[in-house]
Amino acid sequence: MMSSTPALSSPLISQGQKAGHIQVIFGPMFSGKTTELMRRMKRYQIANYKCIVIKYAKDTRYDEGGIATHDRQTLPAVAATELKELQRLSEEYEIIGIDEGQFFPDVVSFCDYMAEKGKVVIVAALDGTFQRKGFGDILNLVPLAENVIKLSAVCMTCNSDGHFTKRMTTDQSVEVIGGADIYQAVCRDCFRSPIKKSPRKSPYPSPAKLKLKSPSKNGETPIVLGERSVNTLENSINRQLFVTNPPKV
Ligand SMILES: [Zn+2]
Repeated sequence: MMSSTPALSSPLISQGQKAGHIQVIFGPMFSGKTTELMRRMKRYQIANYKCIVIKYAKDTRYDEGGIATHDRQTLPAVAATELKELQRLSEEYEIIGIDEGQFFPDVVSFCDYMAEKGKVVIVAALDGTFQRKGFGDILNLVPLAENVIKLSAVCMTCNSDGHFTKRMTTDQSVEVIGGADIYQAVCRDCFRSPIKKSPRKSPYPSPAKLKLKSPSKNGETPIVLGERSVNTLENSINRQLFVTNPPKV
C-alpha cells in the first residue's frame, strides 16, 4: 500500500534509495527542538515508516528510557555516546531521529552516511555553546543538510525572543547537562549583561521529582501502530511513541 500511494507528506521517501536527506533543527535551550523532532518523527511514524530515535547516553534528564523535553513530552529512544555504536541497528530503519546531536563526536559522518543510504535523518541540536561558539562539529552538518532551521526561545530575562543559551554558573566546561537551574535562553542584550544571582525558576518539577507514567494511564494517549511481531527494542520504540500531558499546575 505504501508504494502505490502517492506520498503527499513524504514524497522524498517514496522513491527508495533516492530518499535520503538530512533535516537539522537548531536553536538554544528551551526553544522546542526536541518537541519539533518528536513532531516530525510522529508524522513519519503515523505513516508507518520505521522510526528510531537516538539520544545521548549521558543525558538522563527526567527519563531513563526515552528522550524528554523540558515540558515532559517523551519519546522512547535508544541511547549511545557515539552514533557508530548504533550504525547496524539504524540501518534497519527508514527514519532516524537524533536528539542532542551536538554531543555526538561522529554526528556529521553518521548523518551523511545514513542519508547516502537512503535514510531520512532528523537532527535536533544546539548550534552554539553557552559562549556562542559552534558546538563541537555540529555546524559542519549545515553544508550537508537539505533543510536547516533555527528555532528561538523566549528570553527568560526580558521576554523578547531568545536566540542564545546562557549558563548561569561559572563552570567553563562545554558539556554540562542541565535545565533551567543552570541555563537560560536569552536575547542578545541579556546574553551580554552580568549573571544575576537567582535565575528564573523552572516552571517544571525538578528531575528528581519526575517519574514517567505508563502511557496507558492518566489520560496519556499512546499511539499504537498496528500489530506486528517485532523484537523488544522495536516494540519499545515504535509502539510506545506517546505524548504525556503537561503536569497539572
Ligand atoms: Zn532579554
